[in-house]
Amino acid sequence: MSNLDSSRLSPRLQSVYQSVLDANPGQAEFHQAVFEVLLTIGPIVDRRPEYSDLALYERIVEPERQIMFRVPWTDDSGKIHVNRGFRVEFNSALGPYKGGLRFHPTVNLSIIKFLGFEQIFKNSLTGLPIGGGKGGANFDPKGKSDAEIMRFCQSFMTELQRHIGPDTDVPAGDIGVGGREIGYLFGQYKRIRNRFDAGVLTGKGLTWGGSYARTEATGYGLVYYADEMLKARGTSFDGKKVVVSGSGNVAIYAAQKVQQLGGTVIAVSDSSGYVVDQNGIDIELLKDVKEVRRLRVSDYASEREGAEFVTKGSIWDLPCDVALPCATQNELPVEAAETLIRNGVQLVAEGANMPTTPEAIEALQSAGVAYAPGKASNAGGVATSALEMQQNSGRTQWSFEETDQKLHQIMVDIHTQTVAAADEYGVPGDYVAGANLAGFLKVADAMVAQGLI
Ligand code: GLU
Repeated sequence: MSNLDSSRLSPRLQSVYQSVLDANPGQAEFHQAVFEVLLTIGPIVDRRPEYSDLALYERIVEPERQIMFRVPWTDDSGKIHVNRGFRVEFNSALGPYKGGLRFHPTVNLSIIKFLGFEQIFKNSLTGLPIGGGKGGANFDPKGKSDAEIMRFCQSFMTELQRHIGPDTDVPAGDIGVGGREIGYLFGQYKRIRNRFDAGVLTGKGLTWGGSYARTEATGYGLVYYADEMLKARGTSFDGKKVVVSGSGNVAIYAAQKVQQLGGTVIAVSDSSGYVVDQNGIDIELLKDVKEVRRLRVSDYASEREGAEFVTKGSIWDLPCDVALPCATQNELPVEAAETLIRNGVQLVAEGANMPTTPEAIEALQSAGVAYAPGKASNAGGVATSALEMQQNSGRTQWSFEETDQKLHQIMVDIHTQTVAAADEYGVPGDYVAGANLAGFLKVADAMVAQGLI
């Protein structure tokens, strides 16, 4: 029996899932994200009959609006390229659509829809007034010059600008979109609209409307959340061996916070392999290699004494106490979960979106490993984006400490909420169910209140 077998769903939700399959053929990642939510919200069906009468389930799996557009641009030699741009405005029950932009060659409508769908419940869990959306393009930033990145961003925003606004839809970064890209996107928006709408994008530079701690927020938030999970088990990061996959913004700041809390991050990775550094990753060197010089983790290994670059096998082969997948979707398959379990892993918390496959999640949960889904554990990034929007509305800027403290409290609250929802619905310790139930109920009740739209 496949893990996405609809007979495992509550009978009322089987037809919902079937209609998602029928209406969205070939969108495997989107199917996976929907299935995971439907599987865990089964207990709501009987308790809230009005959701069925109001076709709430059918409505929530259908994006409010899906935009796809051509993005033409010229490279440095004058050659013309065409990419496809996306913005999926999934749900605005709780606030303006909010979610990042991903620039990666694998981007397609399925990827953007799975991310947008997850974003609805993640944003709901933050407790802040933000709906769910996601966008991006199948553009590969790797190896592109600064000027090429700028021309691509300008072309992308020339179309996107007509669909977004501080009270409508507020994009931010994701894979392949960081501070540099947000700068070029913001400049083009401002030029076309003739408005300094600070709140139209988040992840801005600190001198032009950005928020302190936004850069660090997803990684720090992940570790604050994981720390709560460890506390609930009577332990902490102190003395723990930690493996962090990825080496982008999420991974770097997760690694930094782990080490501040007394853990040792022994490995990070990128698409070409992973680096093992048993002494603990040198965060300043990693930041310099990745953020300043935009190089690879192999360059970190060659510059750091005692570190080794490995291309064989998987980063999950390394024995560790805590695993933090911070790279990309489905990067932790069931075989990796089994290896981690054999090696005694105690906790897996997702920094990336949907990095653990459904089979791997089941293996971890049945082995008694504490497992947190990204929509709870990586919500610190978007939460701090919502704090950036608050600061923009008030034309103000808070200190790093104040913002970081708010982020910390939000992660503690998300942990409390997810644990409470799991308890209330009879699945104690199940963070997946807790996150989906708590996130879903808030959105569903807002949709009921707002009528048939
Ligand atoms: N891309 C991030 C996420 O997956 C952040 C989105 C945002 O800040 O709007 O949640």
